[in-house]
Amino acid sequence: MGEGVLIKEGKIKLSDWKSYLTYIAIILFLMAGYIILGLIDTLLLKYMMEDSSKQVNVYTSRLSNSIYANNIINQLLEDRLVSACNMILENEDNLSNDFLIGVSKNLKVDHIYWYDYQGKIIYTANDYLNWQANIGDSIYDFMVSHMDILVEPIRKAADSGIYTKYAQMKGKKGFVQVGILAENIQEITNRFCPQVFVEELAEQENIEHVYYINNDNELLFCDDYKSYKDIEIGPDEKSAIEEDRIYYARKTLDDKDVYEAIYPIYADSKKMGTLIIIYSLDGLNVTKTKFSQISIILLIFIFLIYGVMAINTVKKNNKIRELAYFDPVTNIFNKNYFITCMNDTIKKDSKNKKAILIIKFRNLELLKLNYGQNIVDNLLVRKTSKLRKLKVVKNKGESLFRYSKDSLCIYIDNYEKKEDLIEISNNILNSLEKTTDNIENEELFSSKVIIFELNKNYKQIDRIINDIDIAIGRMDEVNDERYIFFDEKDRENIILNEKIEGELLKAHYTGYEEFYLLYQPQLDLQTNRIVGIEALVRWNSKLLGNIPPIQFINIAEKSKAINSLGKWVIMTACNFLKQLEDSSINDIMVAINISVIQLLHESFLDDISNIIMKTGVNPKLLKFEITETNLMDNYEVVNSKLELLKEKGIGISLDDFGTGHSSLARLKNLNIDYLKIDKSFIDHIVSLDEDILINSIILLAKELNLKVIAEGIEMEVQREYLKNKNCDIMQGYLFSKPITQDEVTNLIKTINEKTQKNDKYES
Ligand code: C2E
Ligand code: CA
Ligand code: CA
Repeated sequence: MGEGVLIKEGKIKLSDWKSYLTYIAIILFLMAGYIILGLIDTLLLKYMMEDSSKQVNVYTSRLSNSIYANNIINQLLEDRLVSACNMILENEDNLSNDFLIGVSKNLKVDHIYWYDYQGKIIYTANDYLNWQANIGDSIYDFMVSHMDILVEPIRKAADSGIYTKYAQMKGKKGFVQVGILAENIQEITNRFCPQVFVEELAEQENIEHVYYINNDNELLFCDDYKSYKDIEIGPDEKSAIEEDRIYYARKTLDDKDVYEAIYPIYADSKKMGTLIIIYSLDGLNVTKTKFSQISIILLIFIFLIYGVMAINTVKKNNKIRELAYFDPVTNIFNKNYFITCMNDTIKKDSKNKKAILIIKFRNLELLKLNYGQNIVDNLLVRKTSKLRKLKVVKNKGESLFRYSKDSLCIYIDNYEKKEDLIEISNNILNSLEKTTDNIENEELFSSKVIIFELNKNYKQIDRIINDIDIAIGRMDEVNDERYIFFDEKDRENIILNEKIEGELLKAHYTGYEEFYLLYQPQLDLQTNRIVGIEALVRWNSKLLGNIPPIQFINIAEKSKAINSLGKWVIMTACNFLKQLEDSSINDIMVAINISVIQLLHESFLDDISNIIMKTGVNPKLLKFEITETNLMDNYEVVNSKLELLKEKGIGISLDDFGTGHSSLARLKNLNIDYLKIDKSFIDHIVSLDEDILINSIILLAKELNLKVIAEGIEMEVQREYLKNKNCDIMQGYLFSKPITQDEVTNLIKTINEKTQKNDKYES
């Protein structure tokens, strides 16, 4: 069973590219942020690398300076020590404690001891008089050695443990030891001491720790011994240290993000050790966090602006969409949206059977004239809201559309068989008819459904719309059924009808070349004489072939071409009548079919007078056949015109009697002379058994003083029956089909002459 549409409202997009632009902008913004963050990172790291290598350079130069300074100081001390030694040896023979004190003061040396060759201090500028050097003391070693002079590097004094630089020099009787306390030079060398440097370095803002290890990987200097354990020196770092490579790495120390730089340290082209600097990345992280925060604020800002813009656009779009896709009266989707939906549907390759049910409201125009537009609008709103409740209409009314002023349509997706569609149609019609609020103006309201199956041929929306319009047009022709199925032949008919209409218009300008009249004899049932002929128009179109008069007369009536064509028919028939009169046949009436539209035309009566005058026919031999159905709708006007025609002497025949619903009261006052019983009644006569309907028609006609013509007599039994019932005139294939002028002229001559002879014989 049909389930309804399918197309989401969201599919109607009005300015999508703009929203894409925003997405692109946001993506670009995020990408830029990412790149900038990366840049900050590399810039800062680069700065750190540069900084650490600068530090290392400083360190290296400070270290070599320190070595250099140490060398100079050593040299100076050595010179002083040696000159003190020389001065004392030069005065070897006059030595005394006071002398040594004098030298000590003059040459600014701290210790002076004079030993004899037993290793005993004999004179001293300080203490330790009579101190004896023993084996194992360094001074003892010097005494027993072959060296004359020895300048030692700074070393700890064996007794005091104080750093001192000593020089020893041998004389003739003894030898001298001179020492300068290294503590005094400490001050100078301190400034070049690696430990101080390490501490100074560690105090810098972005440096966490500094470590200096010697070539045996022993930690020599650092700012914080304890933290050294935490910076786990991994295999990468170890191999870098061993291979004297510069090495950088990011790592975590104590849950902190840090940057590690490892540098080999050289002095005098000799590797002295390795400097490890741990930089804090706090600064970097703070910058990054700040940057991220700014970015987020910016993004929020952009989103806010965009949000406001988007809300405005959505509001505007909704307004446009409402105007473009909604019917303002019923608030359901309109034809535009229907077209959009159908376009989507035909593009989709679905195997579902689909149909469109068109609901046509009748008499809306009449209702509007009687009650006004508001009442009609209210009625429509009520009816559509009823339809929206139907199961077949999807929840939001997505499959219900206002197709035109007086039609709605429902889209059905996925039904199984025609019967389903009939059931739905009946449901629709029932729900429209059932009215809980008894409003009197609804009496006039009625609706019909046309079922339009969307088969595979419908690949273009234009064709669907075209056929729906054809279907709606056809709906007026159908009177009895509540619903009809649209037949594709209808479309072909429409196309043919359009061609016919065009050709009819052309014919008006070319003088109806392709048209001619045939005449069907009408026989007096009692005398068997031909008393009349009915002119019947024929069209042999070069373009369209033979077209039956029913078809083109209908079209001509709708397009008003009937006025021109009808005039031509009357003219031609009158010419023929004149011809008959000229060949002494002057008792034959010519019946001409007149459309009510023709009759209603303002110039009709003048045209008739002109034709009668021009052709010179006797109006008494003219008979106009007017169809009952059209006549009764315009009774008053038609009747008054008929009266004028009768005044001219023209006979009037009511054609197709019995097919319309003329009331007897009206029939009584109608200006007619003949009743022409329709063929459908004659068809009922198949034997001489009584036919009540025919009998009563004939009786009625007699009562109204009308002559009765029976048309469509095909069987002898019909003729016999009608003759017995005193029907006046017969017309039908039994006697003759419609025939040409010449044929009918000859037929009249032979038949009427024969009957005349018979009459003569009889009389
Ligand atoms: P109508 O006026 O009722 O014409 C009678 C139709 O019945 C004619 O069809 C005629 O050929 C047909 N007919 C006569 N006897 C028999 C019979 O025994 N058996 C059968 N089966 N048919 C019979 P036709 O000529 O096709 O005309 C059809 C209709 O076209 C006419 O119906 C008339 O309404 C209209 N028409 C024809 N000529 C004109 C015209 O010049 N002007 C107007 N306004 N209408 C015309
Ligand atoms: Ca007729
Ligand atoms: Ca007829």
